[in-house]
Order: sequence, then structure tokens, then C-alpha cells
Amino acid sequence: MSQKRDYYDVLGVGKNADEQEIKKAYRKIALKYHPDKNPDDKAAEEKFKEAAEAYEVLSNPDKRARYDRFGHQGVGGASGGAGYGGGMNMEDIFDQFGDIFGSSFGGRGFGGGGGGSRAVRGSDLRIKIKLNLKEIATGVKKKLKVNKLVNAEGVTFNTCKTCNGQGRILRVTQTMLGAMQTQSTCHTCHGTGKIIDKKPAGADAQGLKRQEEVVEVNIPAGVGEGMQLKVSGQGNAGPFGGYPGDLLVVIEEEKHEHLQRDGENLHAEAYISFTDAVLGNTIEVPLIEGKAKIKIDPGTQSGKMLRLRGKGLPSLNGYGSGDLFVHINVWTPKKVSAEEKAILEKLGQSDNFIPKPEAREQGFFKKMKDFFQG
Ligand SMILES: [Zn+2]
Repeated sequence: MSQKRDYYDVLGVGKNADEQEIKKAYRKIALKYHPDKNPDDKAAEEKFKEAAEAYEVLSNPDKRARYDRFGHQGVGGASGGAGYGGGMNMEDIFDQFGDIFGSSFGGRGFGGGGGGSRAVRGSDLRIKIKLNLKEIATGVKKKLKVNKLVNAEGVTFNTCKTCNGQGRILRVTQTMLGAMQTQSTCHTCHGTGKIIDKKPAGADAQGLKRQEEVVEVNIPAGVGEGMQLKVSGQGNAGPFGGYPGDLLVVIEEEKHEHLQRDGENLHAEAYISFTDAVLGNTIEVPLIEGKAKIKIDPGTQSGKMLRLRGKGLPSLNGYGSGDLFVHINVWTPKKVSAEEKAILEKLGQSDNFIPKPEAREQGFFKKMKDFFQG
């Protein structure tokens, strides 16, 4: 799948362009590549769609903020394994036109055979997927079994007789104020202007059938619990030969045995013996994959935090990784033998074993602060 272009580049505006600049830039591009001006020009249509998608995100403060932070992934632009490349279809784009161009360009039905008929979009499907930390750290390609509506093979269509293929019905009603004309969507064909002609066994009244399909989804590294990835065009097929909805993949994160996630950073608890704390040693800490050896300095206090740079999770936008914080706990034995007790009592009399916290130890919050300033 081709790489998506940066939305700011697509519209040719700077990162801090304001709403008016964005609208103006989009207007210019949209007019240039509008399908009415470029009939049967696929390249122009792609440019037109690309600009519409960029505008859709950058004109919405919420989506724009997510895009600035997470890139295309943040606004549901994860590249799906198959299906549509662009995120928007022509119907969406023309719907969006109303508010910036007025009615002159608005609401044109695409591929609906003229008139007022519209291709109907299939519904979105939502599927949950469980990922472990390792999969989140590297990104993963998953094959999902999706039970969805697809276009049944061998279905043919006729023009709807109720509306003569217009998709809409005009009704004239006599009121006290005179004749009033109202327009409504044709119920026979749901506005598509088409009805089923030949229907093979297994197809429903809308020309669809349900079946299980395998959809391959590329999950980028760094996703988190509750995030939703959109795979365009992999939802239910649209009725009457319409276009498909999207497949929404919701991420669920499996808990790791030893590592706790905090955004891009990970936290692990390590327990060291009292003697290691005093004399120093090397210990092993769990990583997402494998283990790392870390050095415990002589005189290490319980509660000390060690930072392993870059051993956290990669950021979703692809720049850098978080860190792994190892929290050191000194293990206190619950029971000691008579011999150990005697040794410890003797040690307890030494001045070295009297706590002097003000001399060395810093509180947790001070340490965190130091980490993030240093
Ligand atoms: Zn009809």
C-alpha cells in the first residue's frame, strides 16, 4: 500500500495554518481537481479525494490535534491490508461540500446513474482484537475472520419502477396554503433507484449474503487499549450494489506478567536482597522480549528507580521509544535464624546502619522530576 502524504503537504499549507487558510487552500485544490472539470481522469479524482480527506481532518480541531500528535494513525488512517486506499468516498466528500461551497457543487450522486439516486453505503463493522505487549512493541499483521455482508454473486438489478430509478418520490399534497410538494426517499429501493432482478439462492432482498472473510490488518507499533483502527471498505457491503462500510478494529491490551505500561514508558518492580543493596550486584530485569542485566550500586536504597532508555514502547508516530523504569525494592526476610539474628543485632549497633535519609535519599516525586529534566 502506498505511503500516505502529509495532510499539510497535500493542502500546501504550513503546520500552523489557521482555519481560513486551510479552507482557502482546499477550495482551490478541490475546484482544480473536481470530477466535473476532469471527467474520467483517475489521477485528478485521486487528488480530489486526497485533498478532501486532508481537509476533513485539518478542518476539525479535534482530529487535527490527534493528527498532529499521532499522524495518520491517530485519525484512523492505519493502512489496511486490502480494500480502498483513501479514507473517504465521493458521497462523503460531496456531503462535506455543502458547508464550504454552498449548493452549487453540493450533493451530486456519484455512480448512481444520474437523477437523484444514491449508492447506499454498507454499515461499519467493529471487531475487537487482543494484543500482547510484544505485538504492540513491534507492530503486527493480523488475519481477522470477519463475518460480514458481501455482494452475492450473480445478482442483477433493474430500474426501480416505483421511482423510475430516481431514488426519490415527489408527492404533491393539498394544504390550506395550496399545493405543497414534498420529496422523500423511495421505500422500494431505499433511494438507490435499483431493485433486484435476478437473485441467486442465498442472497437476501438487497442482493447481499453473509459470509466469513479473512481480512488482513496491519497494526502499527505503539497502539494502546481502546484505540480504534479503521480499515476502509472492509465493512458490510452496501445494499443494491452500493459501496461497503468500514471495518473498525478496536485494540485490547493483554496485561503483561511483569511490565506495567504508562503510555510509551514501562515500569517493572525488582526485588533485591539486603546484602545486594549494601554490597552491590548485578540483577536481571524483564524486558518485553528477553531480559537485561542491570548493575546495582553498593549502598542502593529501597525505592531507587533506574531508567533503561529506549526499552519502553515505540511511539505511535514512529519517532523514538519510551523508557523502562525499574523500581528497586529491598527484600526484608520475614524470619531469621538465631545465628542470623545475632549477626544482625551486632550490625545494628554500627553507626552505618542508622538511617540518615536527609543525607542521600530523595523522594519519589523529586526523582521523577530529575529524570524528566535531566
Ligand atoms: Zn425506487
